Amino acid sequence: MMKEENAATTTSRLLRAHDIHLKKRYGQNFLIDDNILDKIVAAAQIDSADAVIEIGPGIGALTARLADAAYGVTAVEIDESLIPALTERFADRPNVTIHCGDILKTNLAALTAPYGDRPLKIVANLPYYITTPVVMALLEGDITWSSITVMVQKEVAERMQAGPGSKAYGALSLAVQYYTTANLQFTVSPNCFVPRPAVSSAVIRLDVGPRRMTDVGMERMMFGIIRAAFNRRRKTMVNAVCKSGATDITVAELTAALAAVGYPANVRGEMLTSADYEAVTRFISEKRGYDGRSS
Ligand code: SAM
Repeated sequence: MMKEENAATTTSRLLRAHDIHLKKRYGQNFLIDDNILDKIVAAAQIDSADAVIEIGPGIGALTARLADAAYGVTAVEIDESLIPALTERFADRPNVTIHCGDILKTNLAALTAPYGDRPLKIVANLPYYITTPVVMALLEGDITWSSITVMVQKEVAERMQAGPGSKAYGALSLAVQYYTTANLQFTVSPNCFVPRPAVSSAVIRLDVGPRRMTDVGMERMMFGIIRAAFNRRRKTMVNAVCKSGATDITVAELTAALAAVGYPANVRGEMLTSADYEAVTRFISEKRGYDGRSS
């Protein structure tokens, strides 16, 4: 088999051939390092039985490698001007489907329906400004995936793994740690992209974890408490959650729940672990006479 040209050469050839001008507003920093591209596919642990959703394929450097490893790849790209290059590149690859659209407005359940019960893995080298909303939408959304492997800004990888009391700890850390086990893979230098981004990046794989709450209402209450606590993280948790109007939880309810979990009434939300937030939520739910079972 003829050896493929390297990623840097393919990228500049396709950009020229299709007269593509990279768009800053879509965070278009394309990976041109073959070694890093291979390492992302390895980090995502793609198997020949897997279906993959790739978010933001660009002109397909990662897509091509994912398609070599997976049963099928569906790539969702927002920029219409990249679609002809992608379509041409994958014309002879029946296991690649290109979908033009905004990932935050795409019906992923419909898009992945043809894959049936195959394990679904999500892989993305996303623009940094949409990483958090996309990851949160996937964590809280209703499609069943087994892992999410994302390239993120190094600081975002740190936030995902941060623990109580640190500056990086927040709603993203708690959501990631509640729904998944985060496995940091490796860091990536700005030199591996064209154009060079201003920041260093990291690849992190989030493996789906066992959900501990079976009740959607309780989960919603817990993330309401978390969001309120971190929206005003300098205030005590009672002030942030009960006096901000963000939740219907009363001072008496939250104070009693905190005491039951072993915290004083003036604790800040950033001191509680993911398990503590669950315990606080369960306590309040049970006191309200809510049995915690889904209806
Ligand atoms: N995957 C390619 C690579 O690794 O070289 C390109 C990565 S580039 C950092 C991000 C890609 O995501 C761009 O192609 C951009 O157009 C696309 N993108 C940006 N916002 C998007 C959105 N909301 N939905 C889908 N794709 C998006």
